[in-house]
Amino acid sequence: MEAYDVVIVGAGPAGLSLAAELAGHARVMVLERAAFGHTGATWYSYADRVRDHGLDDAVAFRTDRLVFVSPNHRHEMKDDCVVLDHGRVLDIWLERATAAGATLVRGDYQTHRVDRHGVTVSSSAGEHRARLLVDCTGPFSPIVAAHDLIVRKDAWVLAGARVRLPADSAPPEIGYYPLCDAANTYLGVHPFSVTERNVYVFQGQSNTLGDPESLRPLFEATLAERYPGAETLAPIGGSIASGVLKRYGLDRVVFFGAAGMMNPEAIGMGFNEILRQVRGFAAGLRSALASDRLGARQLHRVAMDARDREAMYFQRIIGAFSLHFVKSEAKWDGGVKWLNALGPESRQWMRNELDLDWIRRATLALHGAVPLRESVRMIPPRDLVFIGGQLARFLALTAARKVRARLRPEVA
Ligand SMILES: Cc1cc2nc3c(=O)[nH]c(=O)nc-3n(C[C@H](O)[C@H](O)[C@H](O)COP(=O)(O)OP(=O)(O)OC[C@H]3O[C@@H](n4cnc5c(N)ncnc54)[C@H](O)[C@@H]3O)c2cc1C
Repeated sequence: MEAYDVVIVGAGPAGLSLAAELAGHARVMVLERAAFGHTGATWYSYADRVRDHGLDDAVAFRTDRLVFVSPNHRHEMKDDCVVLDHGRVLDIWLERATAAGATLVRGDYQTHRVDRHGVTVSSSAGEHRARLLVDCTGPFSPIVAAHDLIVRKDAWVLAGARVRLPADSAPPEIGYYPLCDAANTYLGVHPFSVTERNVYVFQGQSNTLGDPESLRPLFEATLAERYPGAETLAPIGGSIASGVLKRYGLDRVVFFGAAGMMNPEAIGMGFNEILRQVRGFAAGLRSALASDRLGARQLHRVAMDARDREAMYFQRIIGAFSLHFVKSEAKWDGGVKWLNALGPESRQWMRNELDLDWIRRATLALHGAVPLRESVRMIPPRDLVFIGGQLARFLALTAARKVRARLRPEVA
């Protein structure tokens, strides 16, 4: 008899939200190498999603707009936006998971061994036996690296701090502003209150998982220049990697969160994506456990079914374009111009809530703001091939949906 049904490795938002969803239905252990309840991230999210997950208690700041600024444009995206107290979010999930019986173990994952009956996870805390391992170790997953699973990777690389500002500072807003330097760095601001904010610099980089600490000196200089008199309370930083894996499940192992490259391309917002997917993913795992179908193919399918595939393929296409927007000031100008062309509908893009109708309107708006020939010229051939592949998958999927809807309208 295996000691646990599931060992979740990593207690970030992916691991803890999943533990909270699964613990009442399965024997769950969570393995975390750092302190439980800690993260280097900062989360902007949406009031309705946060409420739906019972996280209202963790809201630190509310506003009705998100501001994007480029050298020549400004886009105000209207939505019910919130900044979350990340420590409180993780504590809420920890309380739910442990109340439902989950076991927490502090230890560093080292390796795992799969056999016919289960999986043995070795960590600095010892050996842990389960039927299934869920890898929630984030963008630098040791399991993804050991199996050489990454086909494509891009990252937002971020370094910053929670800071206390002098009392007479500008009114708080959630915003993204260009520093107008050669590397096209941005400044992100997430307010907690009139005087406390998470402030960070970030860059879009392709073909890498990024090195957040390399941006630390730039952050220190920017903070001193933009916020004289700011007191640093705690460092934040990390990589928001997005991309494609060869597969999202191995025998008795499945990837969730940033380890499964779940961040929407070009947007990041991996926390929001976790909120969107965790219930579907947990339901898929419960049924895989109940039927004991824990092979690579079945688990890959569970991971893919939790995603909205149409939106995922389309995001990858837009993402490949957008990464080139963020490479230079002029192109970012085009990006913000495009957001303005989308108008009030830009919120659906940020939320990754895309349907075919929206996709049609967005494609026309993108074409109107940045002529297609110009967009194509700035994309390297490697990415054009990738975009072609994603477009083919997207079109095949939508065609299959249409056929299914015609044959079995009651299911569609
Ligand atoms: C500065 C910053 C700002 C962000 N802003 C937003 C935002 O506004 N909105 C949004 O939606 N998203 C945002 N994100 C992205 C979001 O934080 C990530 O997508 C999300 O944290 C991914 O969650 P995760 O649980 O998959 O991975 P992580 O949060 O990386 O958690 C992984 C966990 O696994 C643990 N771990 C790693 N290796 C091991 C090991 N060997 N053994 C045991 N444990 C291990 C780590 O210690 C960590 O606790 C931001 C990220 C950063 C860094």
